Amino acid sequence: MEIFHISAECYPVAKVGGLADVVGALPKYQNKAGHKVRVVIPCYDTKFRKENVFENVYSGNVLIGNFNYSFNVLKETTDKLGFELYLIDIPELFERKDVYGYTDDIERFLSFQIATLDWVLSRNKIPDVINCHDHHTGLIPFMMLYANKYQKLKETPSIITIHNGLYQGQFGFDKMNYLPEFDRSHTSILEWDNCINSLAVGIKCAWAVTTVSPNYLNEINYSANGLESLFNSVRYKSRGILNGIDIEVWNPKTDEMLAKNYSIKDLVKGKQANKEKLCSQFNLDPSKPLFSFIGRLFDEKGGDLLPKASEIALTDNKEAINILILGSGNPNIEKELTHLQSVYNGNFNVFIGYNEELAHLIYAGADFILMPSRVEPCGLNQMYSLRYGTIPIVRRTGGLKDTVIDFGDDGNGICHDQASVEDICYSIQRAVNLYKDKTHLNKIRKIGMSTDHSWERVCQEYLDVYNLIINKI
Ligand code: ADP
Repeated sequence: MEIFHISAECYPVAKVGGLADVVGALPKYQNKAGHKVRVVIPCYDTKFRKENVFENVYSGNVLIGNFNYSFNVLKETTDKLGFELYLIDIPELFERKDVYGYTDDIERFLSFQIATLDWVLSRNKIPDVINCHDHHTGLIPFMMLYANKYQKLKETPSIITIHNGLYQGQFGFDKMNYLPEFDRSHTSILEWDNCINSLAVGIKCAWAVTTVSPNYLNEINYSANGLESLFNSVRYKSRGILNGIDIEVWNPKTDEMLAKNYSIKDLVKGKQANKEKLCSQFNLDPSKPLFSFIGRLFDEKGGDLLPKASEIALTDNKEAINILILGSGNPNIEKELTHLQSVYNGNFNVFIGYNEELAHLIYAGADFILMPSRVEPCGLNQMYSLRYGTIPIVRRTGGLKDTVIDFGDDGNGICHDQASVEDICYSIQRAVNLYKDKTHLNKIRKIGMSTDHSWERVCQEYLDVYNLIINKI
């Protein structure tokens, strides 16, 4: 079958978080399973764009209100990613360093969606299925059904995969004229809470809705940033599919970003070598248990709890632990963490920013990864940690609940129930005690490393959903 994935991110081309990892991996495994898979993302000013060769396969114009943007569709020439990659090049809107965070994000992603559909329509063949990802592509299922110029795509099944329901791409009806001409009797579909809500529109119009873990699908029925009743009403066409991880990219045996490669057989030596490199880089003591956090420093991730929890844990443990944090986000959290660095110099360090290589080294060299998330639709960090023999410490929420079981229940990690400083500190204390019992510690590490989170299995679940909706026609 011919499958299109349309997304704002795709690893290694442009990555902010887990969305990129999924869109960089799932298509590869669908391709391996014998399907023709194409990934379409905007053309940002990234290293990948500069270092690779592209051919122009289509040119057109997008009219957004009074603005007319010309665009090109660029195809990566080698297919080295394991699928066909297409970049929608609208220089005025996307030739920028960051993926998100601009005042014209609505215009940017709407143009991207329209340009993508224009190009899809211009090809001789209509795809078998279009898989949209998150709110940046949420208007596509609506336009395919109701925009006059896309009537040929009306019968093409669309699905929307929700990686994060907190962000919804809302905008006012004053911008409704940005959309291509559509059948106005369907205007009410655009509305949620008095504005146009791109995610809600996608959920209403897509033939199927998937979330990135089964437990997240349950949670959004009662906690979804205002979309609870909508999620309830589309339950009949929804499915929670747990994300996989790309075991080729995330493999401690072959990962080129590590100081030393290792497998389950020599995990103690391997992890120690990586820990030593990390500790020397960040002025930490490799003989102490190393706790790390990797991610966006926002309340959603429990980032606001990290400064106080670190302070208490470091005081309670009389300097018997190390903490290393990698991330960026809320400037107040960044400031508090940077302050701790001067107070607990030698036991605490923080790298403010995004650094893929450092993330890999941390997954390998840390002993425990902290994930005190308030919201975690799936979470990939805990799966990477498990694969690298690093024990995740998680709050039982979303996909974390689906993937991490407390070692007290013969599981692979450490779990707590509340997103609170107290719960994090209690878990850290349990981890410190566990660290002293090396036989038990290594047993749990091995359980984690043996867990199968590969995409092969998960890929079939997506194909099942596609087949189900295709067969409905
Ligand atoms: P999110 O909600 O941010 O998408 P996920 O757990 O699904 O969270 O995915 C996060 C991905 O982003 C992981 O691959 C993680 O290693 C990576 N990541 C997050 N922050 C950073 C950072 N500051 N530097 C490097 N990688 C990061």
